[in-house]
Amino acid sequence: MSPVLAPGSRIGLMGGGQLGRMFILAARSMGYRVNVFVPEADSPAGQIADREVSRAYLDEEAVREFSRGVDVLTFEFENIPRQTVQWAAEHCEVRPSGGILHITQNRAREKEFLAAGGFPLPTWANVTTAADLVAAAGRTGYPAILKTASFGYDGKGQRRLNSDEEARRCDLSGGPFVLEAQVPFVMEISAVVARGGDGQSVCYPVCENLHRNHILDTTVVPARVAPEVAVRAAELAWAMAERLDLVGVLTVEMFVLQDGKLLVNELAPRPHNSGHFSIDACVTSQFEQQVRAVCGLPLGSPELLRPCAMANLLGDLWADGEPDWAAAAASGDVKIHLYGKTEPRAGRKMGHLTAFGSSPDEALARVLAAREALRTGREP
Ligand code: AMP
Repeated sequence: MSPVLAPGSRIGLMGGGQLGRMFILAARSMGYRVNVFVPEADSPAGQIADREVSRAYLDEEAVREFSRGVDVLTFEFENIPRQTVQWAAEHCEVRPSGGILHITQNRAREKEFLAAGGFPLPTWANVTTAADLVAAAGRTGYPAILKTASFGYDGKGQRRLNSDEEARRCDLSGGPFVLEAQVPFVMEISAVVARGGDGQSVCYPVCENLHRNHILDTTVVPARVAPEVAVRAAELAWAMAERLDLVGVLTVEMFVLQDGKLLVNELAPRPHNSGHFSIDACVTSQFEQQVRAVCGLPLGSPELLRPCAMANLLGDLWADGEPDWAAAAASGDVKIHLYGKTEPRAGRKMGHLTAFGSSPDEALARVLAAREALRTGREP
């Protein structure tokens, strides 16, 4: 068991986005101090941190100095350079470990890790050259999805291929890639699991995720799946956290097939957009779990208090001017979260809403009505 870092200790956070911001809110409510290291100034996390250090991740001296000034280091996204984490680890504990970051920041490594553990995956193959691509498509069939191995999220760096001809014409600069069979899923779900330094772990109720243009649009909890599917999803997430020897939070995105079988899409070694419901709807939020895990405290209960739904607020919502916050807030049990971003670009995650209901269906209808009210000004 790792020693407990008492409230008042200083947590270092790499990355300055909204996940970091919500992590800081949880850490502060428990009395911790948080320093943020992020290349940009005035980041969503930096705005509310004790200290924001705006330097490049590969600025060795800045990374070392930052790490010397904190009691433990964590991160809010996985694309922190390996070198940065190695420098930091010479001065403070890094949780989750750099090894976990290394696996999850590259799709090919992640799939190799999962395949070695016997976890169910879509048919896939590594692709660097045109010859690899043709051979890979021979295994996956068409349609298939070509994804960059690194720096892909929200569908960025993804292309759908429908034929050998398209594959032959495909520009393979910017690789390496993985090619995956397109999965005929009936639902996308995620399981968010937290694991402490003592190996104790807890899993949230499984989330049902609806995407629009490859970006998460809404999450409904509990997922409307058969109980055995939810149990299996949690078991898979638990087993992965165990195999990674994770200290922190892990999100596992999965596809549900018609027959109830699950295939793993991807991992994130951190709180996730699909787990935002836990802030308002659970005894302990995913962000508080990260704080507890990295500070060596026992984990909190992940119990869901009421069925709920979360809807993302993308920059598109600002296309006709400021959304009508009063109309959305008129429904007293809709919670509004905004991330402090000033430029509402299309597709940019600006905030989210959470609503409750006596059933997942009702919660989903309420959150969609509240989001619509932001646009129309008509109260739900
Ligand atoms: P990713 O960035 O890999 O999570 O992909 C973003 C979204 O694209 C997923 O949530 C799915 O909706 C879709 N997608 C990704 N990979 C596949 C696949 N192999 N088959 C079908 N849909 C996929």
